[in-house]
Formats: sequence, structure tokens, C-alpha cells
Amino acid sequence: MKATGTKRSWRIPYDDAPKPQVRHCDHPGCMAEGEYRAPKARDRLSDYYWFCLDHVRAYNAAWDFYKGMSQAQIEDEIRRSTTWQRETWPLGAKTAHRRFNFGLHDPFGVFDDDEVGEKQAKARMETPEEAAMRVMALDGPLTLAILKRRYKELVKRHHPDANGGDKDSEEKFKEINQAYTTLLASLNA
Ligand SMILES: [Zn+2]
Repeated sequence: MKATGTKRSWRIPYDDAPKPQVRHCDHPGCMAEGEYRAPKARDRLSDYYWFCLDHVRAYNAAWDFYKGMSQAQIEDEIRRSTTWQRETWPLGAKTAHRRFNFGLHDPFGVFDDDEVGEKQAKARMETPEEAAMRVMALDGPLTLAILKRRYKELVKRHHPDANGGDKDSEEKFKEINQAYTTLLASLNA
């Protein structure tokens, strides 16, 4: 900023004003200040996102899950959880799609058996976004605020640390993070 003469000191001319330095959270739609940085990828550790505290936590939770996986494994993991719906299963092959039904693993009995069967039958027609909505038990129009709130609840409930490192919790947590990633991407599209 230029030091201005007394004549102009009653206001700072727009062009001379310092550029606003507030960096917004990189989470789509989040207007909070992005105070925490997080690397964009394991092979791009010097390339950062900037998040608010909530979003850096969510990001770190997803990041931890992928720890130890190569980029190819991560992509495979994501693909596996989002493309199975597009496979063509023989009609009536309930056990077949039950076995491959990664997205509907339900160790907490959130859905009763009948409901799961019905949902599995429908699952083949689902888009990845619909599957993700189901995993997160979301319904209706999705906003970022709704997604964030739901994700927080689910992370609190299903975080493996809160469940003694239980395998089923890990699976559930994995699903939730994948669903969250899918929905975030769709909101960001
Ligand atoms: Zn944020």
C-alpha cells in the first residue's frame, strides 16, 4: 500500500488497498477460513489444500484410511466401491450380489434383513451417488451442510478408534468415507 498524502488519507483508494488475505476453506461451498493445510496426494506432498478445522479433520480421516495404499490401490478401492452397481448380475443371483455387495455391508444392523434384501435388489440400478446417499442414510435434496453434519455423526459413531479397532467398524468407516468422497465430488461438480 502506498503511503498517501494528507489529502487522500480519509480513505484508501481501492487500487491501493491491500488484497484481502483471507483464504477460504477448499471444501466446496465452505466459507470458513482455510487455516489448515493438507497435501493433495501422497505423491504431491508439496501441493496443498487449505481447510477449516472441520474439513481438515474429515480429510485426515479419509487420508488415514488410505494410508499404506499405492495410488493404484486407492483408485482400485474407489472403483470397486462405485462401479459394482453397473455390473450385470444374473437375475435371482441374490447370493452373488450379496457377496460382492461391498456398499451394503451392515455390521451394525442399521437395516433389518428384509430391508437389506430389498435394497440389494434395487442396488444394481443405483448410481454411485445414490449408493453413497444410502450408505450415509441420507435422503432428499443434499446440501453441503447436511452432508457435513451427517458425516460428522457417522465418523463419531463408526471411527475404528471408537470401536476398539474392530474389523467391521473399519469396513463401515471405509464405506462412509467413500460415500462422503462421492457426494462431495457430486456437490462440487
Ligand atoms: Zn471448511
